[in-house]
Amino acid sequence: MLDIRRRFNSAILLITHDLGVVAEICERVVVMYAGHIVEDAKVEALFTNARHPYTQGLLQSVPTLTDTRDRLYQIPGSVPPAGTIREGCPFRARCPMRMDRCAVEMPPLVSHSPDHRAACWATQPETVA
Ligand code: SF4
Repeated sequence: MLDIRRRFNSAILLITHDLGVVAEICERVVVMYAGHIVEDAKVEALFTNARHPYTQGLLQSVPTLTDTRDRLYQIPGSVPPAGTIREGCPFRARCPMRMDRCAVEMPPLVSHSPDHRAACWATQPETVA
């Protein structure tokens, strides 16, 4: 795929759950949960400084060669059925950082840096109200 991209000087939109592939070939990553963009960043920023609890959970669940855990991390719960979340954060039932506000207000996608945005009340930069 990288060769095709170079030869045709084109972009590739890759839809995957495989974070190893993402790390290997992507420049920018858009993480979606229940139909919503929850984080958007350059690949290095996402892997070193993920801001959304869903992204953080995904990264924790990836095994590494030096892993000493008996069991891989698993985000508790499951994705809500389509159309069942009408208000608040769609990740709240599974989120270890949820707060009262998360049940009633959908967090906006806000910038943490020019190339990094996330939608989470708990990790918003202090300059955003
Ligand atoms: S907005 Fe709340 S529930 Fe949603 S990811 Fe952030 S802390 Fe968790």
